[in-house]
Amino acid sequence: MSLRVGKIIGVEIKLHYTWFVIFTLVTWTLAQGYMPRQYPGLSPALYWVIGATAAVILFASVLFHELCHSYVAKRQGLSVPAITLFLFGGVSQIAEEPPNPDFEFKMALVGPLSSFGLAALLGVAWYGALGLNLKPELVAPLQYGALINVLLGVFNLIPAFPLDGGRLLRAKVWKWKDDLVAATRLSVKVSEGFAYALMFTGFLVILFGAWIGGLWLIFIGWFLRNGAEASLRQTIIGQALSDVVVGNVMTPQVVAVEPHLTVEKVVEEYFYRYKHGGFPVVQGGRFEGMVTVHDVRKFPKESWRGLSVRDIMTPAERIISVKPDEPAVEAMIKLSRHDVGRLPVLKEGRIVGIITRSDLMKVIKTRTALRL
Ligand SMILES: [Zn+2]
Repeated sequence: MSLRVGKIIGVEIKLHYTWFVIFTLVTWTLAQGYMPRQYPGLSPALYWVIGATAAVILFASVLFHELCHSYVAKRQGLSVPAITLFLFGGVSQIAEEPPNPDFEFKMALVGPLSSFGLAALLGVAWYGALGLNLKPELVAPLQYGALINVLLGVFNLIPAFPLDGGRLLRAKVWKWKDDLVAATRLSVKVSEGFAYALMFTGFLVILFGAWIGGLWLIFIGWFLRNGAEASLRQTIIGQALSDVVVGNVMTPQVVAVEPHLTVEKVVEEYFYRYKHGGFPVVQGGRFEGMVTVHDVRKFPKESWRGLSVRDIMTPAERIISVKPDEPAVEAMIKLSRHDVGRLPVLKEGRIVGIITRSDLMKVIKTRTALRL
């Protein structure tokens, strides 16, 4: 879904596929609408150049904003694997929750501050370019850049998740209540209120005839609502699984199959009997791979007698696995990132357990209910 473009300060920069759509749309609206209105009398080709330059400045500004968040996070020792630029801007993938409210406040605040700082810088450059009477293709992108950074700063201060304003609000409530989950719940309620208000305004705007503006408001509202929900889920999962390792929650007694068994035998004696969706393949104590219902289904029933488990299994080197001392949150991330139902738990090439999505969900449910 996204394209890797490089690494800055150790953070992977990715472009989400929606980014290409919005980049084209921004260039187009700038070249056809905004720039001809602001700087009349130039050639159409020049408007396209100015539009594209301004769009590049917009996305460079978003990237700068995200890099500032990432820099602060990394200095605190949080890992930031990637920044993804997409439809509405960017997201820094900060793996863990911030350690305390004061730090979260600082990390969130640096975003809007960096945007306002960049706005001031570009504003001065624009003023200078005007004074020197430079060509419009230089003046126009600078002016747009200054303006867009002010807007970025202001937009991000809206107190709704996943925007910085939502994080600032959460940090304040967190400090006041001394409870991260409660603070997240409250900030998510506020975010949802904002989201629905935006969508409602969007409908009103459409009723009064400005349907493009209205659609944008509805879209942003919808995006904020989803982001708020995702933030809450992430916090609850992170809290419930903190200081739990894979070894604590895995199923240690593993039913394994041998690679030389026929598929027919495995279906009859394992899949029908144990009702698991998949089994590890083990020979002489060594983990060789996994065989799942999905692997079996790829072959017609008539061929099962002639095929062995080894023929249809996914070999060990292509299997995503976890170690018993890995944090349970890591297992959760791997399960959802690779969209698999179970992970083998390996220790020095031997299988010591299996961890499934439902194992983790049970832990999350119990620990959330007990507020551990
Ligand atoms: Zn931000």
